[in-house]
Amino acid sequence: MGVIRDLILEQVEAGNAERDRLWLEAHRSAEPRLFISSLGGCVRKAFFDAYRRVEGHPWCVERTHPFDTYLLEKFKYGNDWEDITYRELLGQLPGRIVRNVSLGDSIWAGRADFLVGKCFLPEGAVIEHKTTATWSFTYSEEKRQLPYKSHCYQVLAYKMFLGQMTGLDIPAYLYYRSANNLWAEFEVYEFGKEVIFDGEIAGHLVGGRFLGRLCTEMVKFQTYWNAGKLPPRYETPTFVDFGCTKKQGRAGNRVAVPACQFFSICWPGVETPIEVGE
Ligand code: SF4
Repeated sequence: MGVIRDLILEQVEAGNAERDRLWLEAHRSAEPRLFISSLGGCVRKAFFDAYRRVEGHPWCVERTHPFDTYLLEKFKYGNDWEDITYRELLGQLPGRIVRNVSLGDSIWAGRADFLVGKCFLPEGAVIEHKTTATWSFTYSEEKRQLPYKSHCYQVLAYKMFLGQMTGLDIPAYLYYRSANNLWAEFEVYEFGKEVIFDGEIAGHLVGGRFLGRLCTEMVKFQTYWNAGKLPPRYETPTFVDFGCTKKQGRAGNRVAVPACQFFSICWPGVETPIEVGE
């Protein structure tokens, strides 16, 4: 590998280790809580993440498949893009934007990326910023990826907690960027038993909905949390893509490789990659 590349990767790893150390130090004495960003994902994984800092607890487990440097580098770029968006918004809305706003209750914890005071909307807005792969930005109906359900639930939870704190119905937005500056933004809200999103992907109007309610999604986690029980693993290690595993390769010849950091805790002895055909 190149000398410059080596230096960059070393810097990414050092930065990540330091962030991890500071986070553990800051939270070690706090009561464990579920991360709001876990909504829409594996309930069991959310418990492992919540107990990561509680040394000695049976749910505080070693990651068997920690992120590799490639992924850490992607996360770092996500943070870098968020910094850029923040500076750009601040330039337009001086004194009206707060970053990393802590929200939650005795069970849930999270930090909304940006809370904007009166701006393009009289009530302001809560904005969750995401950086994602270029291929996610397709706007054709059949292939559309954005917005991800988990992100919708996350920003809806921030909207709910802000509403409880302020009594205001603050609009919730998702803003996506890619490394080559593709963008998408959506307002996300609930109506009846559906989550609705309206917005644009790189200038193309996009709207849609899916069946689901924030309160139902939260109860899915809280039922186990309140009972003090570790949720079960998925039915199989290939039950949902980007759960325990993600699928790779061409149709008819696909394999599943671990996508979860706790893969071997839930699936001890399962040899990977797993042949899935399809
Ligand atoms: S390995 Fe699968 S079941 Fe276990 S925590 Fe990860 S996603 Fe959940």
